[in-house]
Amino acid sequence: MEKQYVIGVDLGGTKISTALAELNGNILSENTIPTNAKYGEEAVLSRIIYAIERILEVTGKKVDEIKAIGIGSPGPLDSKKGVIIETPNIPFKNFQLVRPIEDRFEIPTYLENDANAAAIGEFMFGAGKNTRNMVYITVSTGIGAGAIVEGRIYRGNTCNALELGHSTILPDGPRCNCGNYGCLEVLSSGTAIARVANEHLKAGADSSLKNYEVVTSYEVFQEAKKGDKLSLDVLNKCLQYLGIGIANIITIMDPEVVVLGGGVSLAGDIVFDRVNKVVGERCFKVLRENCRVVPAALGKQSGVVGSVALAIMESLEDK
Ligand SMILES: [Zn+2]
Repeated sequence: MEKQYVIGVDLGGTKISTALAELNGNILSENTIPTNAKYGEEAVLSRIIYAIERILEVTGKKVDEIKAIGIGSPGPLDSKKGVIIETPNIPFKNFQLVRPIEDRFEIPTYLENDANAAAIGEFMFGAGKNTRNMVYITVSTGIGAGAIVEGRIYRGNTCNALELGHSTILPDGPRCNCGNYGCLEVLSSGTAIARVANEHLKAGADSSLKNYEVVTSYEVFQEAKKGDKLSLDVLNKCLQYLGIGIANIITIMDPEVVVLGGGVSLAGDIVFDRVNKVVGERCFKVLRENCRVVPAALGKQSGVVGSVALAIMESLEDK
């Protein structure tokens, strides 16, 4: 039977989203179920298998019509071995995820960290379409990234390339969750923006942010747009660090486009204007004039579209 479809699985700490798509990326059906992470790794594996069975049933497709399964998961992981090494929100510890799924369905299955999968999604179907060299960066509670080099995902030696969020920007900066100090993530993620604003408020700074019971990065962006000085100062600093991180990656990778996704990028011009200014100041002219920093196009769908794109890209490369 001709294999005309792929399945993408976006594995997250709270939910698993699964899609069945045509080889052009057109999604025919999608389902989302709770991950039930608290029941352990075998239980999560069973949930993934259930989600795949369910989508085959709903669409009436047979196993031998499916060319590949792509799974995007938090890492670190080893995509060559199909093993999830460890994740903060799902109880995996050196867990072989790919083999049991291949054994169950007899469909080639590929595992990739979620930022890389989203990068492949933006490259094939989003803001990186028609490029050959692209970097994707997601800025929300944390910072993740993935790179496409000459049309292929760049994994590196241990499949953990582009851990941009944990590159050092400020040697004596605050301590990051990873144990290092002054990582990009601890300076300019959504979590960092909220933390810095709250520190200033606690120290008695005057600001319209005082009117909120809880201040997250969302409130900081809202008040900055209304002209609140503290919010503007906090963003100025945090987004300067983000700009430096992006200028560094442009200097290293020389991409055609940097695609910026995640919650923070949704704040729009205030983010892109600041980042572009820093890139303009810090990158060689030839690099900055040939690279655009643009918003991601896939939004909330980036996870599931990324997993679908991973399955398509891998199955094409296997030929
Ligand atoms: Zn770190």
